[in-house]
Order: sequence, then C-alpha cells, then structure tokens
Amino acid sequence: AEAHIAAIEAARGLNAYVLETPEKALEMAAASDARIARGEAGLLEGVPLGVKDMFATEGVRTTACSKILGNFVPPYESTVTSKLWAEGAVMLGKLNCDEFAMGSSNESSAFGPVINPWRRAGDDTPLVPGGSSGGSAAAVAARLCAAATATDTGGSIRQPAALTGTVGIKPTYGRCSRWGIVAYASSLDQAGAIARDVRDAAVLLKAMAGFDEKDSTSVDRPVPDYEKAVGASLKGLRIGIPAEYRMDGLSSEIQALWDKGAAWLKDAGCEIVEISLPHTKAALPAYYIVAPAEASSNLARYDGVRYGLRVDGSDITDMYEQTRAAGFGAEVRRRVLVGTYVLSAGYYDAYYARAQKVRTLVKRDFETAFDAGVDAVLAPATPSPAFPIGSTSSMSPVEMYLNDVFTVTVNLAGLPGLSVPAGLSSDGLPLGLQLIGRPFGEEQLFSLGAAIE
Ligand code: GLN
Repeated sequence: AEAHIAAIEAARGLNAYVLETPEKALEMAAASDARIARGEAGLLEGVPLGVKDMFATEGVRTTACSKILGNFVPPYESTVTSKLWAEGAVMLGKLNCDEFAMGSSNESSAFGPVINPWRRAGDDTPLVPGGSSGGSAAAVAARLCAAATATDTGGSIRQPAALTGTVGIKPTYGRCSRWGIVAYASSLDQAGAIARDVRDAAVLLKAMAGFDEKDSTSVDRPVPDYEKAVGASLKGLRIGIPAEYRMDGLSSEIQALWDKGAAWLKDAGCEIVEISLPHTKAALPAYYIVAPAEASSNLARYDGVRYGLRVDGSDITDMYEQTRAAGFGAEVRRRVLVGTYVLSAGYYDAYYARAQKVRTLVKRDFETAFDAGVDAVLAPATPSPAFPIGSTSSMSPVEMYLNDVFTVTVNLAGLPGLSVPAGLSSDGLPLGLQLIGRPFGEEQLFSLGAAIE
C-alpha cells in the first residue's frame, strides 16, 4: 500500500485518480497485517485496488465524474466493493472515468481527461487511455494499483484495457451485483475488473461475483474458482471467427493481429471455425438507441433535490432546469436528449421498439453459433490503437461511437467478454483481442486468454 501511495503521488500528471484515500489505505493495510498474523487471510488480503468512481463507497465521495454529483458522499457501499473489502483488499482511491460512464476516451469527465501512460515510439503526444474506465486502465498500466474495478455498458472495460495493454473482464449480465453502482443503462451495465494479467483478473472476478438479493437481475448461481481455469487445457475447444467483424476499413494491422491470435489458439489445440453473426452491423445503432433511452430515464433522478448539486431558480421547474443545465456535461445532455426523443410517443415504435428487436436478433446470432458447437468467439477489441487527446473534438459523435463496434454486441446479448493484450502496433502501442463466451462461460475465457496474453 505504501509503495502504491508513493507511485500515485508521483504520477498525478496522468489524472487517473479523482480522489486519493491514503489514510484509509494504510488503515485497511494495517488491518490486513493483523488478519494475516492471525492466520485469517482472505482471497485478496492486502491487495491495493483502485475503484472506478461509478461505485458507491461509504463515506468516500462518489461522483460518476459528473458535476451534478459534485460532493455526494454515499452512506452505503456497493455490493461489489464490499465483497472486495471482505476478502481483505485495500482501497487506494477513486478512479477517473467518462461522466456517467458515457464515452470511449475518458474526455467527458468533469475532472478532465486521463492520460495514457503509453506513447507512440519517438512521439510525445499525450494519448487517451480509452473509456469510459480510462482511469482504471491507466492506473493498472502505470502500476498505480494492483488492479481496479470498472464497469462495462458497451465496452468500457474491454476497450480501455486494449488501449493500455491491460486485461479487462466484462462478465455475463447478472454475474456481479449492480447494487450501489451509479446506473447508466441498467439492462447493459455490468461490473468487472481491469488487471495486469489474466490470472489477476480471474482472482478479482471470483471475489466480486455472486448473487445479491438487492439486485433483481443478479443471478443465483455458484461462483466457480476462475483462477483454476487459467492454464487449463484448450484441446477441442471450438473458436468462432465472425465474418461480419471483418468490417470495411479494418486496418491490416488489426487483421494481422486477429489472424495471429487464431493461430496461437490453434497451436494450443483449439479448432478454428468461420461463423456468421449476420446482425452485427445493426448492433451499434441499436446500442446508441437503447443505452441513451435507459440513461435518460436513470438520470431523471438528478433533480437538485435528492443528490449533490442544486442551482436555485425562480420556481421548482426552473430549479430543475438550472441544476441539470449546470450539472451535466455536453455528452450526457446529448444522451438525455436522444433518449427522451426515442422514448417519446410517436417515435417509440420507430426507434426504441425497433432497437429492442435488433437486440434480440443480435443475441440470437450468438445463440445460433453456440448451438452449433462454438465455445467462444475471437474478435478484435478495438478498431485502432490509442489516439491523441483532443483528436475527438474534430470528430462527430457518430465517429466517436464507432470505437465501440466490436464491443457493444456483447452487452446487447448479455454475454461475457475478455480483452487481452496481444501485441503492439507499428508505432509501439498496445493492441488487444477480445474473447466472447457463452453465458457464464467466464472460465473458458480465462483459459483462452491465458494462451494469448
Ligand atoms: N462508449 C460506450 C458509450 O459511451 C460504452 C460506455 C460504457 O461501456 N460505459 O456508451
């Protein structure tokens, strides 16, 4: 804990942490020492972790990196973080992210952008770490925590992991409790972990996962010992390569990496098969209807009365408007506007209802592949390596959303996805591959991921 506290202080320029809690860390570490001395060590005893600022932490400011939650100090702890502390983990602080986890570059945070610790060879331009869990990914990559919690609604664990050379696990929907996590799009949100390697990710997920009666969508199913899956034999596993992910404009570099990944898995005893996921192209537009729709509803609670910021107005409606105008950043306002529009009478059937149908088709595509005997799907994690901070300001929102083409299908279908570092780009930046599993197939993902990393 002491070494990490010193490393965090020395790397404040990365802007990975939005709140450092060194006193709390040392107190928790001392309690860990005492438990170890008594022979009562938990699974994560003494392991120093960073927590994405989407997780409510009791008595510790939690803002979702939004001004509207400015000084919100929750009187409760999220289920996932309480499970980590119960296993002896130590909290170093709260990690930066896109505002309400909306973004793919960590540039929409009210605390400013996070800087990727990686640079292009011979070029000092600061790069984004990806998003929305950019603080989690940068902190793990820069060794400012042993591992970090994160959330993934449309790729926010897997994409930043890929852009920082770290491992990201987004479990099956329902595997981790959403209780105490700031809601973005509730039918897509899942908690997960970003870690230095596959084994660490497996150990962390084991501690985080499990049924919680406080989350009606959490699934009552035993949590396997994921760590045992690391290093397990891959003989006979069938890996699907989806033709539709070979999109127009996919760089030859990413294509080559993908081919290499398939070759490694083949060498490890897997059978590689071509598959078709025909509705892939419709997934991104469907996601960008479903996610803002749910967000517009979830974010209605920030009204200046219940939480955080209040800007006084001439009457209550004016107070709501002033508070929300001052408290939400541009991207969040855009999502609320889009979401409200697609849910409104007259447009609901054309947009929201249709997007839900597309969602079902995307899910069925995967089911068809799994029914045909495919155990997991191998795909790229991102269309490109990390890009310069600020470069997105000249992009349209849709261009920005294209970063998520390879990741949103997994959330729409509720499946587990693992992003593993698989190589470097020609200019020396990390690139990741993604493994997509059957529902509750996390063990196989960890086994396969260990053969690639
Ligand atoms: N980039 C996607 C979005 O902005 C995904 C974000 C996430 O997974 N939280 O919605």
